[in-house]
Amino acid sequence: MIDSPLLEKCAGYIGGRWVGAKSGQTFAVSNPATGDHLADVPVMADGETVAAIEAAVAALRKILSPEQRSTWLLSVGQKLLEHKQELARIVTLENGKPLKESLVEVEYAAGFFSYYSQQLSHLDPEALPKPVRNCRWMMHHRPAGVVGLITPWNFPLAMLAKKLAPAIAAGCSVVVKPARLTPLSTIALWALADSAGLPPGQLNLVIGQAGPIGETLCKHPEVRVISFTGSTKVGKTLALNAANHVKRLSLELGGNAPFIVCEDSDVDVAANALLVNKFRASGQTCVCANRVYAHRSIAEPFTDAVSSRVKELQVGDGLDPATDVGPLINRVAFDKVAEHVRDALAGGAQRIVGEDPPRPKHDWGCFYPPTVLTGVQTQMMLCRDETFGPVVGISVFNTEEAVVTEANSTQYGLAAYLFTQDSDRADRMIRQLHFGHVGFNTGTGPAPEAPFGGMKQSGFGREGGLEGLFEFCETQTVVRP
Ligand code: ADP
Repeated sequence: MIDSPLLEKCAGYIGGRWVGAKSGQTFAVSNPATGDHLADVPVMADGETVAAIEAAVAALRKILSPEQRSTWLLSVGQKLLEHKQELARIVTLENGKPLKESLVEVEYAAGFFSYYSQQLSHLDPEALPKPVRNCRWMMHHRPAGVVGLITPWNFPLAMLAKKLAPAIAAGCSVVVKPARLTPLSTIALWALADSAGLPPGQLNLVIGQAGPIGETLCKHPEVRVISFTGSTKVGKTLALNAANHVKRLSLELGGNAPFIVCEDSDVDVAANALLVNKFRASGQTCVCANRVYAHRSIAEPFTDAVSSRVKELQVGDGLDPATDVGPLINRVAFDKVAEHVRDALAGGAQRIVGEDPPRPKHDWGCFYPPTVLTGVQTQMMLCRDETFGPVVGISVFNTEEAVVTEANSTQYGLAAYLFTQDSDRADRMIRQLHFGHVGFNTGTGPAPEAPFGGMKQSGFGREGGLEGLFEFCETQTVVRP
């Protein structure tokens, strides 16, 4: 069992009170590295979700002023940093990622609270500069109302912070559903947020059955916005369920990021960037490079630079300070990665680093060895689908036009990375890349200050920046003579 002052209550939170499931049922959360039982959390479903929505509706009558919301956001951001070590330990225990990455995740999450605490003035009413039709026009940014926030397991704290901070900044009340595999860091954040003084009902947490909770959030008429990060498959289900109420959605879905290394790039810079970008969270991130394209003239030195670095990566329990790559989240994830590698090898790819690991006997301890493959081709699973694992698959390209076409040949459009020292070439290529986030000579992912989101089937809506705040607002235009 996990022993943490932030997890004294392993429960949901409705109307300002910690609550269990009506059925009394619980489910076990365990450590993906060791299988250790961490905690039992309630299995809530539609009934509790309706209660949470009703509490959130009632709370809308007593929303705090912008100044009070700003103070709350600042205070939660500070509390996250004060409890950084403990929160990071919880993230590592439930998710498996190395502790050093979890510490970065806590700081990143805190950044959303501090950033949005400073953006409340953007909600001030705006006037058109001149009368139109002899009238004065004012635009008010009203809170959207009750919002449903559904988060994934790969960044359990950061993905919550991205949604929760702007929703509260906008003046909304929220119902949050964390991923079943990683609810503990969300509960820990609640323990900190609880003492920071929002009116009861503005923050509600339901944990448990994804289907019924998600469906209730989508179908309940009082929920105005659903913000979801997860798979494209679930995103489509939510969109279908929300359609009947013409409900607003913000969807951050799957990715299949190309990582393009041109002939004029610095291969060491590109290799270093790829290592950080690709192996973070064992490659289980929607922004990580999934397809690596190296120009024929530098493919060999680039592959050598990547391979020598990948061989150095230490795989193990995230709590061990030496660990660079933790376990995959479960056996389904392991099987998918193994299948992608098998498929590539069967299609003629060569394995430069890595070996075939035995299939884990349990749903934990699913360590996959960091792998580098060359000779990867478009039709392979590795290129068609998000691998979500510690595997670099390198393809060779000959021309700028061909690699751009190849990079865009996916239904996804979340992130892309381009390495070249020629800024004219970069301008040309970036304009043609249909991805919401492009790293130019960097593998850096999103930041609180900038909008981030997908094109095509990677979703719509943006998180971070002012765009992320306005996802939770409605513009009301008032015209008067
Ligand atoms: P991942 O591949 O990250 O597990 P999922 O889309 O399966 O992606 O899960 C992301 C989040 O969506 C989790 O909180 C999960 O519990 C939730 N979820 C899964 N199925 C549904 C559903 N039918 N309706 C609403 N939420 C769901």
